[in-house]
Amino acid sequence: MVSTQATRVDVMIIGGGVIGCAIARELSRFDASVALVERQPDICDVTSKANSAIVHTGFDAPPGSLEATLLARARDLWPAVVEDLHIPYLQTGAVMVATTQQELDAIQTEIVPKAERNGVTLHPLTADEIRENISTVTPSVAGGVLVEGEAVIDPFWTTRAYAENAVRNGARFYLQHGVTGIAINPDSVAVDTELGTTFTARIVVNAAGLWSDEVARLAGDDSFQITPRKGQFIITEDDLGIGQIVLPVPSKISKGILVTPIVFGGTMLGPTAEDLSDKTDLSTTAEGMKHIREGVSRLVPAAAGASTIRQFAGLRAVSSTGDYIVGPSPVGQRMINVAGIRSTGLSVSPALGRHVAELVAGELNLAPRPDFDPTIPELLADARPDEGDVICLCRAITRAEIMDALRSPLPPTTLDGLKRRTGAMLGDCQGNICMPRLIDLFRQELGRDPLTLAKNARGSDPVVGNIPAPAASAGRESRS
Ligand SMILES: Cc1cc2nc3c(=O)[nH]c(=O)nc-3n(C[C@H](O)[C@H](O)[C@H](O)COP(=O)(O)OP(=O)(O)OC[C@H]3O[C@@H](n4cnc5c(N)ncnc54)[C@H](O)[C@@H]3O)c2cc1C
Repeated sequence: MVSTQATRVDVMIIGGGVIGCAIARELSRFDASVALVERQPDICDVTSKANSAIVHTGFDAPPGSLEATLLARARDLWPAVVEDLHIPYLQTGAVMVATTQQELDAIQTEIVPKAERNGVTLHPLTADEIRENISTVTPSVAGGVLVEGEAVIDPFWTTRAYAENAVRNGARFYLQHGVTGIAINPDSVAVDTELGTTFTARIVVNAAGLWSDEVARLAGDDSFQITPRKGQFIITEDDLGIGQIVLPVPSKISKGILVTPIVFGGTMLGPTAEDLSDKTDLSTTAEGMKHIREGVSRLVPAAAGASTIRQFAGLRAVSSTGDYIVGPSPVGQRMINVAGIRSTGLSVSPALGRHVAELVAGELNLAPRPDFDPTIPELLADARPDEGDVICLCRAITRAEIMDALRSPLPPTTLDGLKRRTGAMLGDCQGNICMPRLIDLFRQELGRDPLTLAKNARGSDPVVGNIPAPAASAGRESRS
């Protein structure tokens, strides 16, 4: 039964993407009650699950912007975050490849000086040095630069680990609680959800990603708009001889089409950059795929013909102001907007989480909690030999890893949620082999009826009915 009684908290976060979850973790350092509401059945179900998974240094951020300042702060915070939350992370570095003299000039005159203003040193590379590093690079390579600090990370793990750490430190998460109304009063904010529940908070943090403008409008704040910019991707398991991120000289609107190693195996090609109006258009198109293949062929020709195991799209949240929008809403100090986190939200998450937590702590005069624990338990694939059998053959994920996800403080509610927590179904077969076993483990551990278990938030239920057991044939002879 749904309670319609108001739940009182100090801080209410709207949105369970990487930003909302990072803010929840940072706020759980303080002596305050923290709740997060998310519209989807799981956290990390919108833009935070569909990106290039690069921890950017911020070398190309607009100097002096809030984005550049927070990316610089994030560079210092990442090592401890990765260690405390055991996040899969590879310090690959990125090689920017110029194929013309004009691009080489742009690196020297625009990109290197901008990087210096952002506190990032780029190392010049000759064409021969690039060929030594990346044997498959285009024969047209003219030179480039190494961005040493760039890394690849598991974006699902990062978001889930922020959330789990917040929950272990007392934060509460409410899934499938889409916010439908916000009323800012002198001493508190009332937040209504589609389930009929009302929360009362001393401060609300609007981290609703693509919908942060619509959430702001619920409180009468019409100060910004968010438009989606689609990025399509191809995933391949072909060996392209790539150990580093390979990127072109960027354009004004996009970092361009990249070739990016994935932290848990395979290579990502993309993304495109397409301005749209529909915030739900996650379609991939023949034109998008062609554009990606043309883009990567300029860097690594072999990638153009790589076989696809999956294609997908994500939507960047582009703000009408051009920079991040972080701070109290013009309609009231009790709502903090955290919006327009366009292309660097994953990278900036430790610093943005901390920055927002400091804003809230200052406003509410919160004291740090002496018992805050920044860690989560480390999961060891072979920790329990009795659960050591491999369930996902492509990624060698054991039953112990699946069970730990199902038993965690914030367990998955969909098969894709389990995929994102464990890596099962992310490999070559995309779940064709292990999905039935995963459905069965969901049933065993969480009592989930396979008929109600969806693959993802949009449905696509894999089990549609039971095949009746064959009736025992009447006249069958028994051999005893
Ligand atoms: C193509 C592409 C490539 C990118 N590459 C990178 C990269 O390499 N590195 C990097 O750092 N960043 C990258 N990004 C950017 C990064 O993915 C985003 O900045 C980040 O995921 C934004 O996180 P978020 O939490 O703000 O938004 P989201 O993940 O979208 O989370 C917002 C949440 O709010 C919820 N919500 C919305 N409305 C409501 C409501 N009314 N009630 C309750 N909940 C609500 C949504 O359901 C959603 O879960 C990329 C993005 C794209 C699209």
